[in-house]
Amino acid sequence: MTATTAIPAAPTAVHVDLGLYPDIRRFGAGDVSACFSCGTCTASCPLSQDDGAFPRRIIRYAQLGMKDALLSSKELWSCYQCGECAETCPTQADPSEFMAAARRYAIAGYDRTHIARTMYTRPILATVIAVALAVLFALFMMTARGPQSTESLAIFEFIPSEMIHNLGIGVMVVVVVAGLAGVLSMARRIAKREGVGMSDVFGGRRALGRSGRAAWAAVGREAVGQVQFRQECDADTASIPWYRRRGLVHALVVWGFLGLLLATGLDYGLELLGIKATGTPVPIWYPVRLLGTVAGFALVYGTTILIVDRYRAANRSVRSSTAADWMLLGLLWVTGVTGFAIELALYLPGVPAWGYWLFLVHVAVAMELVLLAPFMKLAHAVYRPVALFFVELSREQGREAA
Ligand code: SF4
Ligand code: SF4
Repeated sequence: MTATTAIPAAPTAVHVDLGLYPDIRRFGAGDVSACFSCGTCTASCPLSQDDGAFPRRIIRYAQLGMKDALLSSKELWSCYQCGECAETCPTQADPSEFMAAARRYAIAGYDRTHIARTMYTRPILATVIAVALAVLFALFMMTARGPQSTESLAIFEFIPSEMIHNLGIGVMVVVVVAGLAGVLSMARRIAKREGVGMSDVFGGRRALGRSGRAAWAAVGREAVGQVQFRQECDADTASIPWYRRRGLVHALVVWGFLGLLLATGLDYGLELLGIKATGTPVPIWYPVRLLGTVAGFALVYGTTILIVDRYRAANRSVRSSTAADWMLLGLLWVTGVTGFAIELALYLPGVPAWGYWLFLVHVAVAMELVLLAPFMKLAHAVYRPVALFFVELSREQGREAA
């Protein structure tokens, strides 16, 4: 049950949502009702700083029903879920898992379509939607189905590349619109709370310099380089071989996924420029194919390690998993593995009929994965850098004021 009352307070009213904490728990949060705000978790967090005392402050927002404060909190996205704080809590609460659930709640909060909320809180319905979506994509492509050549594995005759490209463009339009709506909602909330206006970001050379440095720190250093993640969160994992460390595995999944998207886009671009039609056989070292192969390998390796680690609850960051976590990993893994299986089918003697059907599954699942990206954990790849931009901007302003 959700009750909303307004507590007048200067200078603005604080809206209290009594259903906030129970609602966040639906997103997979552990029980932090016993938290008495001692701050031990904040002290043990390698990333929390004086200007953003998390996770304690975020837990407090949830306990007090401060929904707006939680959804406009940039600190929520500074946490990399290393699990360090969960080790030190005297009440055995799991602030690390709570932060992860609060981020899921925030993704659903920024999404007006309620799809993200369904994906996270209704696992059976979410699974039905995921399966139905893949089937719908497959059936739609089947309407343009061509012959199955027995001379060579002509997958783009079976499902014409034009149909795939048009479908892909439609999916990307939905993703960009839904993604932008969510990011703008988040950025507007954070900017309002931080008192950051357009002039602070774009107003003159000084502001532009400040924004440029903040953008570099958020996107270049943290989102791409994951400097803090590796330096702070991976610091106590020396006993884990380098090829299984969280920082590397996470980077491989992110860059594998983005690399495959880029390779697909470039392939289409080459066709538009009349350089190479989609499906034309090219050697493995042809740049776009090489990019797709390397990215595919990174994705399959990274997701396989993540699946095994989650299954074994191998470290603090994967101690508990939601259905949405499994669904996302499953979609990523199926996309990567079916892509490689098709490559294999192209080299096999004869023309395996399963190669055609595997191609259909691959494209349908890949389309679904991209379409659902703004409503699943993948969305954090955009939300986190935006929040970190505000973190860095506030540091830049602090330095200037000092
Ligand atoms: S999970 Fe790690 S980064 Fe996140 S709040 Fe806890 S200690 Fe800090
Ligand atoms: S250490 Fe535990 S009890 Fe203390 S503030 Fe953090 S979550 Fe609450």
